[in-house]
Amino acid sequence: MSRSVTVLGSTGSIGVSTLSLFEQSGADVEIVALTAGRNVAALAEQALKWRPKLAVIQDESLLAELRSRLDGSGIECASGSEAVVAAARMDAEWVMSAIVGAAGLAPTLAAARRGAVVALANKESLVCGGPSLLDIARRAGGMVIPVDSEHSAIFQVLQQPCIDKVSRLILTASGGPFRTWTYEAMKAATPEQAVAHPNWSMGAKISVDSATMMNKGLEMVEASYLFAMEEKLVDVLVHPQSIIHSMVEYADGSTLAQLGPPDMRAPIACAYAWPDRLAWPAPKLDLAAIGQLTFEAPDLERFPAIDIARQALRAGGRAPAAMNAANEIAVGAFLDRRIGFLDIADAVRASLDHLNGDWAREGEPGGDELEAAMMTDASARSVATVIVDRLAGAR
Ligand code: NAD
Ligand code: MG
Repeated sequence: MSRSVTVLGSTGSIGVSTLSLFEQSGADVEIVALTAGRNVAALAEQALKWRPKLAVIQDESLLAELRSRLDGSGIECASGSEAVVAAARMDAEWVMSAIVGAAGLAPTLAAARRGAVVALANKESLVCGGPSLLDIARRAGGMVIPVDSEHSAIFQVLQQPCIDKVSRLILTASGGPFRTWTYEAMKAATPEQAVAHPNWSMGAKISVDSATMMNKGLEMVEASYLFAMEEKLVDVLVHPQSIIHSMVEYADGSTLAQLGPPDMRAPIACAYAWPDRLAWPAPKLDLAAIGQLTFEAPDLERFPAIDIARQALRAGGRAPAAMNAANEIAVGAFLDRRIGFLDIADAVRASLDHLNGDWAREGEPGGDELEAAMMTDASARSVATVIVDRLAGAR
């Protein structure tokens, strides 16, 4: 299958897996644009190998270096957030949205607006932008295909004709590196310990989110928006082996699951070829070698983020967007060693309490979705910054 492709966030964990999948499958791709935040060396190396029309480095201070590394290649170079959006606007059929955080919303929206198939890894852009991101893609004749492994699993086993007979979406969670830790030990957890995920190798931000289980909180919102399911139909189940990627339970008592080794190239391949399947030397499941799949309920005391997300989803409107913004600030402060691990969820909850939102007020229908989302994002960031500073000062 031949396709023109843009990879937003090409130097990150998902971006690298995407290019690795293209290489391993021998897929006939023409790369239109590659974009990165600050890793100019990796971006230049990828560009020289994949020959996109455009390479964008978001950090403007690195444009000169990108230009010099790509000198003589004929590849156009650009920098800045606007240039990342311009890259998403170029006419690639398939766009991998793999920037981290709400910074990915504007380019993801730009790709959706022109009817591209958007492979969505960047869950924060959906949580921030809300379901209107999906409507925009649909109206433009494109679609959003989830790459997050849980949502890819649900996407694959959700039977559209009987979507009204779904009784539960069951998002599986590994439980992260602190699944078996005591509350006291978690209090002293370091960034190094938090990013050491047992099953998945991922970027720092999502790794911390997995450790707090805010990742599952964001994924509850993501699932509710993607599959138009109320909050009460979205459940979380801890499954430490990360083999069952999620499940859909139907009203007749049947539960359908999708399984596979924990390798993000599988959901990326699914999003690339859907509704076909991409043949590549995929690692296969050896269930006899794995032997046992185990399950447990999440511990909501040690992992309050799940409940915070549930409440935000219940509050509706832009509450999840505010939660996401506050979480980005808190995770940043934790990675900078300014606040403790358990302060992350406290800071998010305190930010939402402080905003105490009339969540429907901003971003009324008919307004500019991006602008409305960014307003909520900005106000939650400033509140969270004050709260994080206070927590940092109290240490
Ligand atoms: P990462 O940190 O490894 O990579 C992020 C990419 O975005 C990099 O290319 C970086 O240069 C770029 N970037 C960062 N800030 C930017 C900015 N302000 N503007 C433009 N580009 C910027 O992250 P990742 O682990 O690859 O995750 C990417 C997204 O996919 C996240 O939203 C994450 O939640 C989601 N996701 C990741 C995984 C995984 O296994 N890594 C699984 C599911 C979902
Ligand atoms: Mg996931």
